[in-house]
Amino acid sequence: MNDSWSPRTRAILAGRPDAADGQPANVPLVPASALGLDYSREVGTPTWAAFEEAVGALEGGTATAFASGMATVTAVLDLLPAGATIAVPVYSYTGTRGALDHAQKQGKLTVRRIEPTDTAAWITAAGEVDLLWLETPTNPTLDVMDLDAILSAVAQSERRPLTVVDNTFATPLGQQPLALGADLSVHSATKFIGGHSDLLLGVVVAGRDDLATAVREARTRTGATPGTLESWLALRGLRTLGVRLAEASRTAEFLVDRLASHPAVTRVRYPGSGAMVAFELADGDAAERACAKLELIHNATSLGGVETTVERRAHLPGDSHVPAGLLRLSVGLEDSEDLWRDLERALGA
Ligand SMILES: *Cc1c(COP(=O)(O)O)cnc(C)c1O
Repeated sequence: MNDSWSPRTRAILAGRPDAADGQPANVPLVPASALGLDYSREVGTPTWAAFEEAVGALEGGTATAFASGMATVTAVLDLLPAGATIAVPVYSYTGTRGALDHAQKQGKLTVRRIEPTDTAAWITAAGEVDLLWLETPTNPTLDVMDLDAILSAVAQSERRPLTVVDNTFATPLGQQPLALGADLSVHSATKFIGGHSDLLLGVVVAGRDDLATAVREARTRTGATPGTLESWLALRGLRTLGVRLAEASRTAEFLVDRLASHPAVTRVRYPGSGAMVAFELADGDAAERACAKLELIHNATSLGGVETTVERRAHLPGDSHVPAGLLRLSVGLEDSEDLWRDLERALGA
C-alpha cells in the first residue's frame, strides 16, 4: 500500500489478493474451523484476515474482527483488571452503557458518566480513571468530543489511562483515532462499513503490538469470532464506503438546511459531515406523529444502510434520558428531493 494514497483509495485496494500473482480479484469465502493444526478461533481465516487487513490499512493499526460491535466492547472490558474505573459519555451507544452498568452492578467496574462536550471533565478524568471510553460523534445526540484535547491530556498524564474511541459514526474514512493518539478504535461494522443492513460484525484496531496481541487473545478467550460470510460482505461494503458516505453526506447537508428552517423543528444536530442527523420536535408525541406519517423513510432501528431510516431513541428504556422529541435520521442513498418531500409532509401535518 502506497503511503501517499488517500483513505478512499486504500478502501478500494486493501486486503486484496495479489493480482500480479494471478490470484482471484477478491478474497474467497473460506469457511474453515481449522487450518491444519491451527484452530480458526485462535489464528483466524483468510477471509477474516482480508477484512482485518483492509480496516487496519485505513486506520493505521492492527485490526481484529469480532462477531458484533458489542463483542468488541466486551473484549475491551475483558482487558481490564477487576475494580477498574471507566469514564463514558452520558450520551453514547445504549448497548455500551448497558454493558458498563451491568458490570458495575456485578461489582466488577466503577463507571463515571461525563457530558461528551465537557472537555475539562474528561481531562480531569484522565488523571483519575483506568479507561476513557470515547465516542464521537455520539449516538444518538451527535455531540462532538474534543478528541485532540482529551487525548493530548492523556498523553501528558502520569496515569496514562487506556483510551478507546468508538469510531462507528465517523467511520474509518471520517476519523482516524489512532493517529490522534488513541490506543484502540472500535467499530460496529454492522453500520456504515457493512452498509447494507445485512450483517452483524465488529472490529477493533490497535496501534501498539502489545495491545493488538491482547485484543486477539481476548477474542480467543471470549469466542466472539466473526462469521465468514459477514467478514466477506463487510469487506465488499468497505469498497463503496467512500462513495456512499460522500453521497449520503451531500443529502444530509441538504436535509439539514431544510430542517433548520422548518417551523416545527426546534433544533438540528449535525457534526458538519457524515450521514447521521438528529433533529428535535416539540415533544415525544410530535416526534411519534411525524414518524407515523413518513412513507419513504423507514421507521426502523439501526443505521448506516443504503436506505434512510428514522428512530425516536427516547422510546427505548436505555435511552430514556435522550430528549423526547429527538429523531435520529440515518441518511441513505435515495433521491434527496424525495426524502425532503417525505419529511416535509410528515412534519407539516
Ligand atoms: C450499533 C452500535 C454499536 C454496537 O454494535 P453491534 O454491531 O450492534 O453489536 C456500538 N457502537 C455504536 C456507536 C453503534 O451505533
